[in-house]
Amino acid sequence: MDPFETPPSFAWEDWYAGVGGRITTIPEVTDTLRSIFDEQVPRFEGEASADKEPLSSPQEAARLVKERAHESGADIVGICELSPEEIYRDCRVEGTHAIAIGHRMRYRAFQTVPSRESAIEQIRVYYELGRICIELADFVRSLGYHAKVQAPVGDSEVLHVPIALKAGFGELGRHGSIINPELGPLFRLGTVTTTLELTCDAPIDAGIAEFCDHCRACRIFCPADAVPDERNPAAGKDHLGFDRYQIDTGKCFPYFARNNYCAACLPVCVYNHKEWARDFEGFQTKKFPEVVMEDPPPPYDGIPPEERHSYPKLKRE
Ligand code: SF4
Ligand code: SF4
Repeated sequence: MDPFETPPSFAWEDWYAGVGGRITTIPEVTDTLRSIFDEQVPRFEGEASADKEPLSSPQEAARLVKERAHESGADIVGICELSPEEIYRDCRVEGTHAIAIGHRMRYRAFQTVPSRESAIEQIRVYYELGRICIELADFVRSLGYHAKVQAPVGDSEVLHVPIALKAGFGELGRHGSIINPELGPLFRLGTVTTTLELTCDAPIDAGIAEFCDHCRACRIFCPADAVPDERNPAAGKDHLGFDRYQIDTGKCFPYFARNNYCAACLPVCVYNHKEWARDFEGFQTKKFPEVVMEDPPPPYDGIPPEERHSYPKLKRE
């Protein structure tokens, strides 16, 4: 089998057309997206310096890279070697290593969800990730090595979630997002791919995935009933060897498209603790987010089979 035989990128525009277009329109979100595509995307690639900085070891290189990412505002940084399974079909990535970046979303913006505030917060964090990754890639290039920002939002050549899992960010929750032991699930991901040799981090097992087997908060609160009850043996294994919980995207995405990019499953997750508490200083808050339960639209799987990700469709009643 060709090691690059991986699923194609999700055909977002076709899919949106199938559910009646991009229904959520928030001027702040539109403006930020425009800034990302007009100002940031042209800076995702660049020339490496002709003078290679002599680095004493991959450990030293990893230390420098992580320090620089944290200086730019990254909340989590991890490193792994790139494997073909993490690269989209027909894409060829220059580089051997991936630097995963996580940036937290403010819990206070999710006091009511889905909402205009939660949508704006999500796109704000994608903009910040773009900025952090651009600064990091510039730094790596200044050392004399190739570096490319893989778009945090929009089309990238790599799959951010498997990379972040391999780089030790956390475990996959029932809601399909990574849960970090300290930050919980309220963060977003970016990746920088590079030719710089770096010491890698290891995936972690903090007992989170097993905890999900006993907790169903995200399933109960999902307005579209898209979070599964059981793990699905046909959906592949996570990095710990567990069958994956498979979100029913045919139910999630139509709701997500109509309701401020939803994300209700993240603030209701019981792993939100400790770190977000600092959000509350000086702000009115509730103990638990208020989930807005609009009636979900019917499931929609209108992507041609050859353009779908390879996960099998869920059985629906
Ligand atoms: S984003 Fe919303 S609809 Fe999708 S799984 Fe999460 S809570 Fe459910
Ligand atoms: S709410 Fe509970 S079941 Fe859902 S991801 Fe969080 S810990 Fe797991």
